[in-house]
Amino acid sequence: MRHLLFGGTLAALLALVSSTAGAADTLSPELQAFRQIYQELVEINTTDSVGDTVQAAEAMAARLRAGGIPAQDIRVISTAPRKGNLVARLRGTGAKRPLLLVAHIDVVEAKREDWDFEPFKLQEINGYFRARGAIDDKAMASIFVANLIEFHKQGFKPERDIILALTTDEELSDSPHDGARVLLERHRDLIDAELAINEGGGGTLRNGKPWRLSVQLAEKVYQTYRLEVKDPGGHSASGRRDSAIYRLAEGLDRLAKFDFPARLSPVTSGYLERVVGTEDGAVADAIKALLAGKTDAPSIKPLTERPAYNAQIRTTCVATQLEAGHAENALPQTARATINCRVLPDEAVTDVEQTLVRVIADPKIAVIPVGNAVLSPPSPLNPEVMGAVERITGEMWPGVPVIPTMSGGYTDSRWLRNAGIPAYGVSGLFTDPGTSGVHGLNEQVGVKELYDAKAFLYRLVRQLAAPGK
Ligand SMILES: [Zn+2]
Repeated sequence: MRHLLFGGTLAALLALVSSTAGAADTLSPELQAFRQIYQELVEINTTDSVGDTVQAAEAMAARLRAGGIPAQDIRVISTAPRKGNLVARLRGTGAKRPLLLVAHIDVVEAKREDWDFEPFKLQEINGYFRARGAIDDKAMASIFVANLIEFHKQGFKPERDIILALTTDEELSDSPHDGARVLLERHRDLIDAELAINEGGGGTLRNGKPWRLSVQLAEKVYQTYRLEVKDPGGHSASGRRDSAIYRLAEGLDRLAKFDFPARLSPVTSGYLERVVGTEDGAVADAIKALLAGKTDAPSIKPLTERPAYNAQIRTTCVATQLEAGHAENALPQTARATINCRVLPDEAVTDVEQTLVRVIADPKIAVIPVGNAVLSPPSPLNPEVMGAVERITGEMWPGVPVIPTMSGGYTDSRWLRNAGIPAYGVSGLFTDPGTSGVHGLNEQVGVKELYDAKAFLYRLVRQLAAPGK
């Protein structure tokens, strides 16, 4: 039985290996080269805990040099052991200012015991590539590397330099080695550009088919506050109604019932105009009302009740942590809450703080900002970018709408936008958000979808760097 089982498993394994090899054999030389770069990058562990982005940056630098890009146009910039970034430049005629391609090469932690497979070994199974970073963001990073080599080999002479920046520590919320910030602060000359392409957008699959393609033009601004009540405290045998915990709880209750005013920007209006047709009933009516300028609570209630829409139409502030008291039998001397806000990118963060003070409405509750927000003004709806994305999308996936979006979370684009470089989150990579495993377990991407994204970005970058060529 054992032997039989073993024999069966071995046969299945051999069949799998040969069929995988068969699939790889039928790839064009360009796709074979890309697949090797993708595999090498994915298999270098680049988590913060034990990984090494210097090793990943060096590996991609070696690929670019082997592909013929002059060594003096490739730099690996490291700010600490295991913290590396790569900047490379494909030179153009200089008729226009450069185009910057950004992708981060660090990945979210992935533990073998939690996953169904080894996270840092690329597997190609049933039409999927599976590994940590298979999507986020080593798909774009390796596509950019492979395409840059192809451009060079073809003797492509763009009208603007194409700069590639592979960055570290994007996935960490507050790292001194955050690559995009480090490059902008210390090596601006190396990456200065008229516009940038980054992650943050992409295609969504519905029932396995391309459904819509988003271009991320804005991100909400992240700002945390600490609410704090101080009190002399005392013996719990003589309790008071205005103890620190009760005061804080009442303030939080007022905040919980409050909605920031709804407001649209060109990005969110564009988004709602394009998605209204995919909704029906009360949600569609509420979207139409909001687009017509109605912001009263009853008209937009169906949107307010849906967190994904609510995040698009207003600033949100939500309690995320609580801490109070020092003993079971004592009145608390301190009560604290953490409030995390996601601010509309065209709204002043100082206004949000004033609103919190007004809504909490208790002078004994201090509202204290934690850290400084990175302001990130929305990128303009650049017709050159949007036109190229729409044309290529129409050719590759006829009928799939291109939708401008604002993200609730952030990417490297916040640093770029903050520094005056408009960034566009667009990849042409179609994924299923329900099964992609990004930031979670068992990350995977369709093989065809990955190769299509490479073709999409090849065409998009070529179009933006040398229109008409
Ligand atoms: Zn990412």
